[in-house]
Amino acid sequence: MAFVDSAKVFLSKHLPRNHLMLASTLALGLAVLVVLAPEDSAHGARINKPLPLDPSLENNVSATVATPEPPQTTDTESAFWTQMKVESGDNLSAMFTKVGLDAQDMYKVLNSTEEAQVLNKLYPGYQLSFHIPEPGTLAQLKVLKSPLDGYVFTLNNDNYVVEPIKRTAEVVPAFKEGVINDSLFMAGQRADIPAVSIMEMADIFGGVIDFILDPRQGDSFSILYEEKYLDGEFIGNGDIIAAQFTNQGKQYIAVRYENEAGDVGYFNPEGESMQKAFLRTPLDVFRISSNFNLNRKHPILNTIRAHKGTDYAAPRGTPVRATADGVVTWAARNGSFGKLVVIQHNGQFETKYAHLNDYGQGIKKGSRVKQGQVIGFVGTTGGSTGPHLHYEFVVNGVHKDPRTVLDQMPKAISIEPSEMQRFKAQTRDLLTRFLNHHDDSRLLSLSGTSDQKL
Ligand SMILES: [Zn+2]
Repeated sequence: MAFVDSAKVFLSKHLPRNHLMLASTLALGLAVLVVLAPEDSAHGARINKPLPLDPSLENNVSATVATPEPPQTTDTESAFWTQMKVESGDNLSAMFTKVGLDAQDMYKVLNSTEEAQVLNKLYPGYQLSFHIPEPGTLAQLKVLKSPLDGYVFTLNNDNYVVEPIKRTAEVVPAFKEGVINDSLFMAGQRADIPAVSIMEMADIFGGVIDFILDPRQGDSFSILYEEKYLDGEFIGNGDIIAAQFTNQGKQYIAVRYENEAGDVGYFNPEGESMQKAFLRTPLDVFRISSNFNLNRKHPILNTIRAHKGTDYAAPRGTPVRATADGVVTWAARNGSFGKLVVIQHNGQFETKYAHLNDYGQGIKKGSRVKQGQVIGFVGTTGGSTGPHLHYEFVVNGVHKDPRTVLDQMPKAISIEPSEMQRFKAQTRDLLTRFLNHHDDSRLLSLSGTSDQKL
């Protein structure tokens, strides 16, 4: 897959709005504990052992704070400012009334400039600051859509002039690590990692790890991500810079890289893209009922039969994602499959998603779908005793265990050979420190000079 395309797909998957959505899904779904496969419980005692932590790190995990800028106390008129945060249900005229201004004052601002239309589309979280040096006189109105972006309207000769507010956050790297005892979500919580970053990590490794089937007690991970500060105050989390997940003893490493054209993606240290042709799991949220097993007893037929797929037990309504780009060749009821979606992928691959409660928006025969696109929702239609997704992976008309097939796929080197030197130069040092360090202070200088030795 071309770097540009994969970067685009990646970016489209990581819009902030998506994050919030994913985060809430995560909170809901990951609260359901991962049910460990039976063979693992025997190993539990052996592998349920946290990584040896550098003792200096223990109380230091969230010690990455920005150097605060001097507080802005120079505004002697600050007493005349009134700040208000927009909450859902708020309206502009009520807010004006609250600060002692009337409808006339409001319309004067609203009609002043085109930018004032922002006031007609207030969203929860916006911040309005009124500067009223004498009762009934609105000298200035600041409208912040975010701490970094907004407008200030200033009274000037009985009219308002507008100036944009554009600020840049200070970005500070934060290093966190966790060990899985119960679920990825709980491990993230224990390590004080934002749920959004855990979800983003699961996304980054989505092509190499099935976060439903693969995690085991004792798996460990570490991430280096951005925290954003403005005037010394934390305002939010940014992207993951690097991540490491050790699954059943096998270590996966990903590092963010922006190429010369400005496209951003995640790669392993050899320059291979983390974005694969197939996602390892069709679900975001999970609880597994059975592994792929040709000899399992089917709960409905109650006979031994070839179970040609993987069953993912999950709450009804859980979104089901296309594991790869393709074309929908079936989206209708089909006997014991119930509501079924079949996707034809490049060449010889086909995936099937059965027992759906419903189809994704716009999903019908002939629809083109993108990897990760929601193509349906978990249900229990057809021959099924409870909500679950029955997922089949077909190669050249033959049912295969996707795990085995995907493991055997040839590795794609995704960084162009001509750019490899640039990639290595930008990532090697960072990765060395990331993988070896147990001290936040060293990472703080990651973006700085290279004279700091490990
Ligand atoms: Zn099944």
